[in-house]
Amino acid sequence: MKTPIIRRKRYNPGSFKKKVDTQTDSYLPKGAPGKMVICPGCHALSTGKRWRLDEAAYAKHVQAGTARQVFCPACEKIRDGYPSGQVTLKGPFLAEHREEILRIIKNEEQRARGTNPLQRIMSLSQKSGQLDITTTDEKLAQRIGRELRKACGGRVTYGWSHNDKFLRVQWER
Ligand SMILES: [Zn+2]
Repeated sequence: MKTPIIRRKRYNPGSFKKKVDTQTDSYLPKGAPGKMVICPGCHALSTGKRWRLDEAAYAKHVQAGTARQVFCPACEKIRDGYPSGQVTLKGPFLAEHREEILRIIKNEEQRARGTNPLQRIMSLSQKSGQLDITTTDEKLAQRIGRELRKACGGRVTYGWSHNDKFLRVQWER
C-alpha cells in the first residue's frame, strides 16, 4: 500500500493502535480501503488514499451515518503531541516584524491544508525572542521555511532526523 509521496514508509494494518508517529503513514487513513471515513476532529474525509476537506460532504455523512468516524493522522498527532516538523525562528528581523511573519506562516498553513488537510500547525510558542512552531507534517515545516526565505530573506537550514520522519527547520534574520 504505497502512495507516490512516501519514502520507504511501511504501513501495517494491524499496528494502528501504536503511536502514530512511528507506525503509520500520514497519507493512509485507518480502516478498509474504499470505505468512507471521516474525522470528528477536523472534519476531513477519506476513502482510503488522501484526506480532503469538504464540510458539506462531512455534514451529509454524519447525518446519514454513512461513514465511519476515525481520527485522521494529523488529529492523532496533535492529541498525542508528536509533531513531524519544527520551525524555529530567531533574529532581530523577527522581533521587528513579528505580526507580518505570523501572517506569512498562517497563510502558508491555509494553503497547505487546501491541498492536504493533514498539513497543520500543532503549536506556536515564543520564548526569549525566539518563535517555535511544530507541525503535523514535515512538508509543512519545509514550506514555512521556504516561504519565509522567499518573503523575508534571511538564512534557512533544514535538518532531517528519525529516519527522515522529522524535519527541523531554522530560520534566522
Ligand atoms: Zn482530523
